[in-house]
Amino acid sequence: MISDGKKADMNTEEILSRMNIKTKIELCSGEDFWHTKAHTYYGIPSFQASDGPHGLRKQDGLADMLGVNRSDPATCFPTASTSGCSWDPALLAEIGEAIGEEAAAYEIGLVLGPGVSIRRDPLCGRSFEYFSEDPYLSGGLGAGYVRGMQKNGIGACLKHFACNSQEYKRFSSDSQIDERTLREIYLTSFEIAVKEGKPRAVMSAYNKINGVYCSDNHELLTDILRNEWGFDGLVVTDWGGLHDRIEAFRAGCDLSMPGGSGYMESEACDAVREGELPEACVDDSAARVIRFAKNAEKALENRAPFRVEEHAALARRAAAESAVLLKNENDVLPVAPDKKVGLFGAMAQVFRYQGNGSSHIHPTRIISPRDAAPKLPYAPGCRADGETTPELIEQAGRLAAAVEVPVIFAGLPESRESEGFDRDDMKMPAGHIELINAVADVNKNAVVVLLTGSVVETPWADRVSAIVYMGLAGQAGGEAIYDVLSGRVNPSGKLSQSWPLVYEDCATSAYYGAGHKNAQYREGVYVGYRYFDTADVPVRWPFGFGLSYTDFELYGYKVTSDEVRVTIRNTGKAAGAEVVQIYVSPPDGTTGRPVQELRGFQKVFLQPGESRELVFPLNTRSFAYWNDGWTVAPGEYTVRCGTGSRDLPLSAKVFVYGTGEQPSGLPKWYERPEGLPSKEDWENLLGRFVPEPVLLKGTFDKSNSLMELKDYSVYLKGMYYVVRYLLGKRYQGKSDISDPTFRMMLESSTDCSLSSMVINAGLNRELLELTLEMANGRSFGNALKLVFKLAAVYREML
Ligand code: BGC
Repeated sequence: MISDGKKADMNTEEILSRMNIKTKIELCSGEDFWHTKAHTYYGIPSFQASDGPHGLRKQDGLADMLGVNRSDPATCFPTASTSGCSWDPALLAEIGEAIGEEAAAYEIGLVLGPGVSIRRDPLCGRSFEYFSEDPYLSGGLGAGYVRGMQKNGIGACLKHFACNSQEYKRFSSDSQIDERTLREIYLTSFEIAVKEGKPRAVMSAYNKINGVYCSDNHELLTDILRNEWGFDGLVVTDWGGLHDRIEAFRAGCDLSMPGGSGYMESEACDAVREGELPEACVDDSAARVIRFAKNAEKALENRAPFRVEEHAALARRAAAESAVLLKNENDVLPVAPDKKVGLFGAMAQVFRYQGNGSSHIHPTRIISPRDAAPKLPYAPGCRADGETTPELIEQAGRLAAAVEVPVIFAGLPESRESEGFDRDDMKMPAGHIELINAVADVNKNAVVVLLTGSVVETPWADRVSAIVYMGLAGQAGGEAIYDVLSGRVNPSGKLSQSWPLVYEDCATSAYYGAGHKNAQYREGVYVGYRYFDTADVPVRWPFGFGLSYTDFELYGYKVTSDEVRVTIRNTGKAAGAEVVQIYVSPPDGTTGRPVQELRGFQKVFLQPGESRELVFPLNTRSFAYWNDGWTVAPGEYTVRCGTGSRDLPLSAKVFVYGTGEQPSGLPKWYERPEGLPSKEDWENLLGRFVPEPVLLKGTFDKSNSLMELKDYSVYLKGMYYVVRYLLGKRYQGKSDISDPTFRMMLESSTDCSLSSMVINAGLNRELLELTLEMANGRSFGNALKLVFKLAAVYREML
């Protein structure tokens, strides 16, 4: 394959010293949708990337970034929001290793995962791809996954770096955030995963942070990621997420994906020639691409087919070990083998086991709850879209009265939760609720199995006997559900996100989601339980909560400022695992800090009667907050220990030495949050006025989208409808917004920035300029030409 043996042996420095600047710049963008460029002359191999994160989405034919076209069969593991409930980095390492093995089998050198973004708001359409609302948990699980995957040399890619918390306007929204919140919450999860997992790649997010696109962000990609955290791998853009090639080189963003567009490469070349862009920046990025490619080639030397059966078994175990038992009155679970069980809910059949979008993979097999128990009587009770009819309800009621334990499958159908758009509300479909109530009316043993990627309101919770959260449990979820219901597996999952009673209880509820182009992080560090616990807001189920079929006792609690020791004993009759959690509270009277924060966790499996002493190290960061640097204020901190954020029976105070001071002079809401944060308080926290984004003719640029521009030019409006029509044609000839794939395609193709259209869809420079001229109202001459040309671009793209 390599034509010149001598040159192929050149080391990276030599290669770079001989390559011309144009070739080096070109090396820093892909060859096509998934591959990078090979240079046989210099001995640089190409490598292939693939999504990620809960299984491999390797595409050979038509490539796309929304999981619409076919991909090769791969094991579908539970999504991160589900495996996050395992609280088990070792399990994540097993999953990572298995996906790495499948990647190697398919000749994939870079897997686009795990996602360690913070689950800031329940309505984020992509919440299912992320582990938790807590950075410590999220980073620890991400690190486990990375370690497992990279064990055999396949590169993992942490994403989406950083502050990527909404799908609405995801290509261009600005995450407006104060430095302390950025550090304590959103960067910490990446920091832990980078330092402990040592990923070979990090993906820069589409969005901006405080006005600067992540791909162009020197502070993020170089000052923090590389210089502070010691990351020495490859930074790759999200697909179509490069904003400015020159700035991105300066910032330390190495590889622009997908390739093929040559976006801003000639401009970058000119910038080097004119001395505006140091060649060393390009060399550094090219060197990182070369190093990654060579490592990937090496890792793929000993490829073997992957172990389909073993991975299917792991997917089943992972789903069962992530299940969270939320309620179990009168020990209705586990269900004894002689009990008459009935199944209810369309989801038992139209099983929801993974999320929609770029992570959507083609499983090696799929077993729904009905497939797993075909002999059990079944009443759908509702339609697949979540709606119901009096007949379906009546039929379900009859069956519910005839069985001893009715098991209802409910949650969110795919239409309600997807990459590409955020959820409209936190509610379950009315049909699901009606079905649950109808079954509960006639049978006091009703069990609800929840299948959702994120949290939902559960106004019916008091009416049923048991609730199990299975999340999006992956291809073997149907079997794993019975493992838990039957007691073959003792549930040990703990919630990785708080479950509010109603959406309005969330601090973010007034300013998150559709209509809010920019993400205003007004709640500051008070994310998830940090808010609910500090503001004393009741929740349905707290962070870290989960029941078991056995009991545990904690004793022998000893705390110093360096470590916590505690012994745990299984005092019940069943073997099982428990997650011991450590939370630190600042000294009494401190304001401006969450009342408690997770600082340690360990999962242990114990036989009945067995006990084990656990040791949790503490360090400066366990007590610190960000104040222009990590700061520890001296004082007596409280260290609590238990099995859930609101179940912490053990407590000890420890004096910690430090040289800093606790936060002071914060705007009122941040001292002790109550109700929702006002914009005024937030602006005082940021120290600047934050204008609402305005769309103004004459100011549009390549960061705007067709969706935005359509209202400023009749031709672009026409264009928008042409695109909508073309998309609709692809989906059974109708533009059905309740089809999540259609909605995702529509939003991603028309609400993405024009620059990403250049990279992803071949919009050329001429068309880009023409589009902008028309939107800005400066030229109407070429209107029709533009419409036809854009239509051709979209036809290609779709
Ligand atoms: C997603 C990434 C994904 C990429 C490639 C993007 O739209 O945000 O997470 O890895 O597409 O499919």
